[in-house]
Amino acid sequence: MIGSVLAGVRTRQRAALCLGLLTCITAQTASAADCPGHPDALGTSRTLVVDPREHPRIGSMQYAETLPLGDHEVVLTFDDGPLPRNSNQVLDILASQCVKATFFTIGRMAQAYPEGVRKLRDAGHSIGTHTQNHPLSMNRMPVEPARQEIDDGIASVKAALGDDAALAPFFRIPGLSRADGVEDYLASQGIQIWSADFPADDWRHISSSRVYDIAMKRLEDKGRGILLLHDIQARTVAALPRILHELKARGYRIVHVVPATSERPATPTEPQQWQLHPPSETVAISHWPKIPNFVFAGADTLPAPSLSDSDWHDGRLVPPAEPFDRARRLARGVPLPREAPWPRQSPLALDSAIALPVPAESIFDIQEKPRTAPRGLAPSSHHAEQTIPTGRETDGLARLISADAGDSSRVIPGSLPVVETGLQRVPVGAR
Ligand SMILES: [Zn+2]
Repeated sequence: MIGSVLAGVRTRQRAALCLGLLTCITAQTASAADCPGHPDALGTSRTLVVDPREHPRIGSMQYAETLPLGDHEVVLTFDDGPLPRNSNQVLDILASQCVKATFFTIGRMAQAYPEGVRKLRDAGHSIGTHTQNHPLSMNRMPVEPARQEIDDGIASVKAALGDDAALAPFFRIPGLSRADGVEDYLASQGIQIWSADFPADDWRHISSSRVYDIAMKRLEDKGRGILLLHDIQARTVAALPRILHELKARGYRIVHVVPATSERPATPTEPQQWQLHPPSETVAISHWPKIPNFVFAGADTLPAPSLSDSDWHDGRLVPPAEPFDRARRLARGVPLPREAPWPRQSPLALDSAIALPVPAESIFDIQEKPRTAPRGLAPSSHHAEQTIPTGRETDGLARLISADAGDSSRVIPGSLPVVETGLQRVPVGAR
């Protein structure tokens, strides 16, 4: 059902069609100035229409492809809601800046707070799903219960919306715990899996100013990308106004992503625009002497990690927070000149030669001390056995999701032993 709305036309055909349609151009040039009462708003610079069937897995943290963004373009995503207490504030902040985002909602939260899901729709945001119960074991789960989690989450959010078309075929796996069976099933349903390009660690017990620092640092490193945030977190609510203000001040532009439909063709793009973002020339120069014959990220790219303030904690060097950070290091790596400039090698061919990490299973699930589960909920990530929550229990679910999804008291997942033992290396292109 969810994939049935997608156009059956191929991208190149759409491109030709789209170029001739004024509506297509209009859809991609929504003006940031159109924010009544807020002339200085960040705004949403354009709408990107994507076809999940053509690009089933995106996000450079885990996959070969990510959204075809230009330099200084940012896509905001929020997970785990809705939780009215904080999600409503996130909506107000986004509305004040006329910023459109994508929300990955949880089925149980939608059941408990259907009004919260409808508010997302009414505000014009894209709505995806994030399973029914937010299990952090999708990578270990048999296919059948994993499918059930996906299907139930979609059904719950659709029921809250009362309108199937209002739900985008976008999905984010809890904890980014990818698995072949999960990915294959979602692809068969025409649902696009969204990993991310960088998180802001807002699920950890860190200050809102730290969330801001991490978000801006990682964005500056990449120059563009999909930012992963959580609308259920108070620290995210506190950090968001400053993040949006700084995005505007630094010249970043917000891109709103929506799914293609039979009436709304995908934005014309070239395949290489979906490949891992090349390092910007500015970043490369800042770390290494400029090299002629600049070649974008490929198999002959050497990682050149640089130390920064986020790499230090209490005077000790701490590796980046993500153990899945090879893509980030590659992205700011130093490209080497090719031995011969011809024949040109396609980016697709290059990608088959490199491997991308996926997060360790424990990335969102490491605990150093026992934690008391909220009443009515299991003390682990196995929410699947729980009954439909009352409002109080769902609040507990939010806390548990928050706790399961991160805890500042945990071992920093990026510590070297975790990096070396926790990664699964997956051939790019196979994912
Ligand atoms: Zn989540």
